[in-house]
Amino acid sequence: MLALWFAAAALAAQQPAFHIVHYDLALDLPQSGKTIEGVASLTVHRLAPVDTLTLDLLDMKVSLVTEAGKRIGFSQHDGRLNIYVGGSRQDTLHVTITYAGVPTDGLIISTDSAGRWLAFGDNWPNRARHWIPSVDHPSSKATVTWTVQAPAGRRIVANGELISEREVPRPADPDGAFGSPIARTETVWRESRPIPMDVMVIAAAPLERFDLGNTACGLAELGRCVPQMVYTAPEQRSILPGAFAEADSIVTFFARTVGAFPYEKLAHLQSSTIFGGMENASAIFYADKMFRRDSVHYDIVAHETAHQWFGDAITEREWSHLWLSEGFATYFAALYTQHSRGDSAFRATMEKVRETVLKAEEVTRRPVIDTIETKLTSLLNANSYDKGGFVLHMLREELGDSAFFRGLRRYVREHRHGTALTDDLQQALEHESGRTLGPIFDEWLRRPGYPEIAVTWAHDAAANELSMTVTQSGRFGYFAFPLTVGYSDSAGLHRIRLAVPAEQAHTFRVHTADGPLASLRVDPDVTLLAKITK
Ligand SMILES: [Zn+2]
Repeated sequence: MLALWFAAAALAAQQPAFHIVHYDLALDLPQSGKTIEGVASLTVHRLAPVDTLTLDLLDMKVSLVTEAGKRIGFSQHDGRLNIYVGGSRQDTLHVTITYAGVPTDGLIISTDSAGRWLAFGDNWPNRARHWIPSVDHPSSKATVTWTVQAPAGRRIVANGELISEREVPRPADPDGAFGSPIARTETVWRESRPIPMDVMVIAAAPLERFDLGNTACGLAELGRCVPQMVYTAPEQRSILPGAFAEADSIVTFFARTVGAFPYEKLAHLQSSTIFGGMENASAIFYADKMFRRDSVHYDIVAHETAHQWFGDAITEREWSHLWLSEGFATYFAALYTQHSRGDSAFRATMEKVRETVLKAEEVTRRPVIDTIETKLTSLLNANSYDKGGFVLHMLREELGDSAFFRGLRRYVREHRHGTALTDDLQQALEHESGRTLGPIFDEWLRRPGYPEIAVTWAHDAAANELSMTVTQSGRFGYFAFPLTVGYSDSAGLHRIRLAVPAEQAHTFRVHTADGPLASLRVDPDVTLLAKITK
């Protein structure tokens, strides 16, 4: 996602005795007001001899729980729903939870400027628990079927493939809160690939569909092509396709770079997400005001689309490895800039990413893999996004395009529809490059800061020798890194790579051609994350 402006408490990861493999979520949405009714049918694998299934659930009051059709006991307190499933064998349970309530978060129910009722799921990082009984942690991924009833006139969009849309009667509605008996529709969507709760959502609003057609044909994991479409408020249709004209080329480029698009379709929605963009699996939500200001640019579409692989299909198993989502989305948006707009636009983007890192206070205090921070929204920072993105850039420079992208394809292939930690990425890159990357990963991801360097140089024209001294401030300790220097002499332009050791100062001597040195540039291609004083 992009941008942030709210606070939420972090909750500790649960050690799984149960694994939920499928959520069958039936929701009834009101005509007005905020009370929702739900029936969640969970398919659960029991992995340890435990007789109580504990789920995260806030705001909703549970009235009934059954297992395999039989009523069973439960209790609700402190944001937890404890379900007494009995027995202790390893087995598969079918637990159905009937509930209702007013979600205070997670499902954002509001009215737009025209007074129209809207509801948009917005679960990141752990807000699904406000409206869905769930294991609300990224280590837990499941498939989902959404069956949503709503008053006619609202379009329901959710993860996965549209299965059906039909009119349904709702006879028992004495107070009329759920609308007239005939004017309701039931929409079913099914996501056949496991996804984490933070990207499992619905939209319910008077949305109009703008078709982008079948895209990335031959590059889809499910089906031949990736159908893409944009859903907006009716009056916003005129700005389309806008940046979404590039949606085909973005998915095609990423799929060719790292492997097939992971889901059934890719929808882009105007929504009431609190983020600028939110990478819900196969249904990206963008902030309403970005549509209203016609300020959806290609780079946010590229960022959120990259998350479909990085974050959604391959999910960081622990929040401290969030850079595996945000660093990748940042770098892949930059890669798309390189692909679509050329090398100098790419260099300018990486220059901006580096500037953001060098200005960020948190980068000086904490490493990218931050196991100390407990406030999850505080992890949405320059470490996860910009430094993480720049580390990928340096790995690419270090390994070369061929080994780097082969490594990424291996990482995607091995962890697609599962979860991963940073070590998994390291192993995939090591496997494809034949290199040991532990020191690089430790230096850039497990300690704070960056090198602060000064490069002084002198050219002895008589001796044809260029000497360069690299001095490190040592503010964050000394780093070992490659430094590219470009210079031109009478023989032409040269680019050399200096292996700077982790020392306070180191001098390099290079033989030059006859005559004076015309120019010297340090890191001309923007491939080193460092504060450089020349
Ligand atoms: Zn993001």
